[in-house]
Amino acid sequence: METVTTIAAARARRQQDRQAGRRVVLVPTMGALHEGHLSLVRRAAELADSVWVSVFVNPTQFGPDEDLDRYPRDLAGDGAKLEAEAVDVLFAPTTQDMYPQQPVIGIGFSGLEDLLCGASRPGHFAGVGLVVAKLLNIVQPEVAVFGQKDAQQALLIRRLVADLDVPVTVEVAPTVREPDGLAMSSRNAYLSHDHRRAASAISRALARGRGAVEEGVRDPRQVRAAMLEVMGSEPLLELEYAECVSQQDLRTPARIEGLLLLAIAARAGTTRLIDNMAVSPPAAAPTAPRPNGG
Ligand code: AMP
Repeated sequence: METVTTIAAARARRQQDRQAGRRVVLVPTMGALHEGHLSLVRRAAELADSVWVSVFVNPTQFGPDEDLDRYPRDLAGDGAKLEAEAVDVLFAPTTQDMYPQQPVIGIGFSGLEDLLCGASRPGHFAGVGLVVAKLLNIVQPEVAVFGQKDAQQALLIRRLVADLDVPVTVEVAPTVREPDGLAMSSRNAYLSHDHRRAASAISRALARGRGAVEEGVRDPRQVRAAMLEVMGSEPLLELEYAECVSQQDLRTPARIEGLLLLAIAARAGTTRLIDNMAVSPPAAAPTAPRPNGG
């Protein structure tokens, strides 16, 4: 594995891959790597001749009161984990290299960035959009792999790539969970023993909501109520949102019909946790012909 720490070095290495006809797949991360990240790396390895992983804690996606300063950083540990995988290039640029001047470009998503996580994290998805656009321009991968764990992010990146005609295929890989269901996250490292135990209620609430949809509930308010019941039973979690939205536009449908996203954000102490589950209502059972034509 080669580690490159400047944009210039990344471009030079990318040129080598191009000349050798290698298919490049990029996994963008903020580091503090766990099995969730490594599952994306393994998916990338299935698709690539040259697997790139970026590690960059992007300041433009953190709000002024968020955890940028205390966000876990362990580049040496990350490097060792990636060495053990089939990774060809670790791209770990400095903030100075990525943002030599205050960017004047602003990426908006016509309000999609203000829903769900965006409601409590103003500017977050603009920062994500900017850094992902930059990484895609620098590395120019054929495929970029993201996690379903950050479902809203994945949806907005798909739109960014489509709207800007970025020549990359976006691949979204499933969420990797701890044995008790908690979605793996770099932020789980912040959790106290009690908060860690409480945090599993989030995936239980999502599973309860999914169960309701699968049992035929068609009113999103009822699905939401099912999730709230589980969340309400865990006093150590402070709910931010529990929503039942369309996978298309992240808005609550009047009635459940198409593909849905159940999404929850909650605080365990000072740690903000998010998770989601995709669910589709079971196909309507074919109406049995009535006896006697009646
Ligand atoms: P992050 O380092 O948190 O920015 O995450 C980098 C990438 O890993 C994003 O595409 C995330 O959606 C993905 N990711 C984070 N946690 C998980 C997980 N538990 N399972 C699968 N993918 C994940």
